[in-house]
Amino acid sequence: MTAKYIFFTGGVVSSVGKGVTAAAVGRLLKQRGFKVAVQKLDPYINVDPGTMSPYQHGEVFVLDDGAETDLDLGHYERFIDVRLNKVCNITTGQVYAEVIGAERRGDFLGGTIQVVPHITNEIKRRISLVAKTTGAEIVLVEVGGTVGDIESLPFIEALRQLRTDLGRENTVYVHVTWLPFIGATEELKTKPTQHSVRELRSYGISPDMIVARSDSPIDESIREKIAQFCDVEKRAVIPMVTEPILYEIPLLLEKAKVGDYLLERLNLTQPHKPDWTAWEKLVKETKRKKPKVSIALVGKYVELHDAYISVRESLKHAALSLGVELDLKWVHSADIEKGRCQDILESVNGIVVPGGFGSRGIEGKIQAAHFARINQVPYFGLCLGMQMMVIEFGREVLANEDVNSSEFDRSTANPVIDLMPDQQGITEKGGTMRLGLYPCVLQPGTIACKAYGKDLVEERHRHRFEFNNNYRELFSENGMKFSGLSPDGRLVEIAELTNHPFMLGTQFHPEFLSRPTRPHPLFIAFMRAACIKAGIPFNDPPEILEP
Ligand code: GLN
Repeated sequence: MTAKYIFFTGGVVSSVGKGVTAAAVGRLLKQRGFKVAVQKLDPYINVDPGTMSPYQHGEVFVLDDGAETDLDLGHYERFIDVRLNKVCNITTGQVYAEVIGAERRGDFLGGTIQVVPHITNEIKRRISLVAKTTGAEIVLVEVGGTVGDIESLPFIEALRQLRTDLGRENTVYVHVTWLPFIGATEELKTKPTQHSVRELRSYGISPDMIVARSDSPIDESIREKIAQFCDVEKRAVIPMVTEPILYEIPLLLEKAKVGDYLLERLNLTQPHKPDWTAWEKLVKETKRKKPKVSIALVGKYVELHDAYISVRESLKHAALSLGVELDLKWVHSADIEKGRCQDILESVNGIVVPGGFGSRGIEGKIQAAHFARINQVPYFGLCLGMQMMVIEFGREVLANEDVNSSEFDRSTANPVIDLMPDQQGITEKGGTMRLGLYPCVLQPGTIACKAYGKDLVEERHRHRFEFNNNYRELFSENGMKFSGLSPDGRLVEIAELTNHPFMLGTQFHPEFLSRPTRPHPLFIAFMRAACIKAGIPFNDPPEILEP
């Protein structure tokens, strides 16, 4: 059977929630028993977002196979609870690199290489790889940016051709737009949507469904108007009012009968009826008033919450399973460096230091770790956050301030965090870190081992530096336990302190594997410690909705 395809384009403005819409539609289909995968087509020329600043792009989401991808892949994986692979995020850069490589080899000898057909063929080939590599029956494809952007034209053209190649019963086009609200006249406007549909049509694509996002309620007359002017059935004009609880969106789309419509259009019979019990419970629990647990996230891109989106979601998932409300305090590490550590952190119940690169803001993060250790405040370090905890501990144990990571100070006397041996000599920056899933053996009796409830796990990585084993003995004698190691025992994957309620750091990124109905065990353990610190009751055991 060939796969069925649902294509998502965006209109009017960017950031209308195309990624979340695609993810939620994926959930509708998974809930009916289909195997679903999602692919994002990014029009920029970088080969992947791994080399971009989080200020430009938000978080880099890492997959099992080590692909560094767009943060929308995080939405897809969390909503649908799937594990995607590197073909699920393609960029203009990748497409051109492939075609130009083939041209240099002489694969097209005698030919002129053009956007159509060479670039569009390569885009279509990469779209076809999703079903081949994941076995998905329904593939959702989201085009980044907004229709009309110069750089996304080849992608739009490839999607247009796919209707001809695959047929109408195998392809659906969903256009996600924005309805602005004019305050003076108090009305929602459909004209930008009409224009963007017209633009899409000028490239040969007529949408089958329009998802209209808006900050205010959308009444029936607006739906009718969009249906009429954009030539889409009224039942396929889906109002999507901004929803503070992201995970409610699949339920809203279900109510709007999006799933049924898509199956009808794709001529599919659902293996079983959707069962929303767990999701309804999730949303109901999110809405319930709960005691608050205050967690500080100490980072250096905190102005842009998208830079830490998986960390924030993982904390929320864990809080929900414990029946408490996450009160997240975004703390800029530079503010801590201004001598305000005590002020900023004294009222929080837990501290998270997430991943990061480069020396800016490092000392503030080390101070946060120091504050957590001295004051017995639960601390969770993710990758760089683990390295910060090690440096802070090293400064104490060695009674010396000259303890650092060689990433920040090449000539430090005590490089307790050092470049990994297989990273020596690497000069290219793109895609060369230690990336993706690696096994980690847990040491019995440790906080980490108890949290996971097993002794072998696999987690996703993205780093070049690691714990320097020359310090292992000294640190263990002084109360640091190496609770997770690579199977050969060489690489420290998890470190924790013994005389502290919860001070634990992971060299990997657990935040990439947390799911709303299946929170990550280490996030649960951390939030649990924070609840105890706050002195508030919590669900014990935590409520895992979909084990
Ligand atoms: N900069 C550190 C390293 O490369 C940490 C990386 C991270 O936090 N993802 O090892």
